[in-house]
Amino acid sequence: IKPYIERIANEEPSNIILAETVTALTRSSGTSAGQPKLMPLTYSELDRRTYAVGYLKVRFVDGLDQGKRMQLLFVRPEIKAPSGLPMRSILTSYLISKNFEKHESSLHTSPIATILCSDSKQSMYCQMLCALLQRNEVVCVGSVFGSTLVQAIRFFEDYWKELCSNIRRGQLSAWISDTGCINSLSMILNKPNPELADLIEDICNAKSWEGIIKKLWPGTKCIDAIVTGSMAQYIPMLEFYCGGLPLVSKYYASSEGLLGINLKPLSKPCDTCYTLVPNMAYFEFLPVHENNEEERSKKEVIEVVDLVNVKLGQCYELVVTTFIGLYRYKVGDILKVTGYHNNAPQFQFVRRKDAFLSIDSEKTAEDELAEGILQAKLFVGQFQLQLVDYTSAVGISLIPGHCILFWELKMEGSSKSPELSPSIIEECCYIVEQSLNFVYRASRMGNSIGPLEIRMVKHGTFDALMDFSVSKGSSVSQYKTPRCIKLEEALKILNSRVVGRYFSQQLPGYKKLNK
Ligand code: AMP
Repeated sequence: IKPYIERIANEEPSNIILAETVTALTRSSGTSAGQPKLMPLTYSELDRRTYAVGYLKVRFVDGLDQGKRMQLLFVRPEIKAPSGLPMRSILTSYLISKNFEKHESSLHTSPIATILCSDSKQSMYCQMLCALLQRNEVVCVGSVFGSTLVQAIRFFEDYWKELCSNIRRGQLSAWISDTGCINSLSMILNKPNPELADLIEDICNAKSWEGIIKKLWPGTKCIDAIVTGSMAQYIPMLEFYCGGLPLVSKYYASSEGLLGINLKPLSKPCDTCYTLVPNMAYFEFLPVHENNEEERSKKEVIEVVDLVNVKLGQCYELVVTTFIGLYRYKVGDILKVTGYHNNAPQFQFVRRKDAFLSIDSEKTAEDELAEGILQAKLFVGQFQLQLVDYTSAVGISLIPGHCILFWELKMEGSSKSPELSPSIIEECCYIVEQSLNFVYRASRMGNSIGPLEIRMVKHGTFDALMDFSVSKGSSVSQYKTPRCIKLEEALKILNSRVVGRYFSQQLPGYKKLNK
């Protein structure tokens, strides 16, 4: 289907693939081959998703409909295809649509203009401020993915004093320049409120921030953010800040479609199951034999099974045929069947096939990183520098989030750590970024992902990382340096040995679609 989608992007009419008019091209984040995945979007597809999500307004917690939601939502920059069709994320398409304005926006503490503000820092600041000003009305705190909520807490650590000062004086900080934000804040932040400012300051000055969400928004009944799949790494942090509130992952969705909903939203994150919504797409399943990929690839065409034939306990790769023209399309996710709701299978999300990093829903793949590292290795080779080993991590302490690479370098023929010229390593940051996919680079241009960082680590760091893995039970002979580190203890080992930090100084470009 890809050539057809590219033809539509390049000015051919939608009817070469669909009877309906294509209104936008959805940019997916799960790309692996250096090209964006683009999916057509139509009005009726957006409606289908909106109404399916409407089912989720199930009253699973009493009082959830008697207040407002502090839901941190952000639009991403849109790019125009050669045909003029906008290319954007599915969430952006939803947030700028009439559906969001009509059905949802009034339920939120964030005025729509603060959500639509394209500067993520101003947007975050104003959304936080609005939620603090309406703290007694808030019944639910969240974002689409758990990572955004963790980012928001980090942001709050840096800005709570300024937010309190704005509340105390009844005046918005002068650096907020977005007119939509200024206008909507002028309705809420219209008089000094020293009592509220004192109260928030007291909460923030406490020795520990454990349970701070519950303290700041005392009426909160649950945390609404996806914490399954790659988001599970944020559960411990969220549990710490949320003071025992349930973490609710409501749905499983992608650019390809709204795929599953969680009918037991209060179940623990580790028990979260999604029920496939059978009328959202035609679902098929490729059995996954985790230990025998080769065998699997020989058999996969024969083995594909329908929705009604999946087996309990078996893992499958999801294949969809959708209303937006995708035909037997592999979503790239591995799911495990855990039960049924009536006849619809329920499953747990196991993993993505190609993900190694995810920054605020933008994912990038291991082979692209490997290619970028290869190019950077060739570049440093000119200066007699050798890359001993590398790994990566997601940096969420800065807004926006960014990719971090940990590098151990040595001089050729010597085991000593070399003297480094910052410009050489900054150039390496840029070289690696250039190899990452279109969505990554577009997000960098739109400032929704920050500059890639290389953290140079001391001689022997990767040996220490291996020692750590071995101490945890992995065998030395089978050990492979993980290319993406999520484990807190492993990150500590790396961070405690950092000798220099370098950031990309240039924006990576992106290529237009080829005709
Ligand atoms: P995108 O196509 O960029 O919208 O990303 C969609 C992908 O995000 C899915 O294919 C999954 O890999 C992941 N995802 C979405 N919802 C969930 C969820 N509830 N749990 C785990 N992963 C999810």
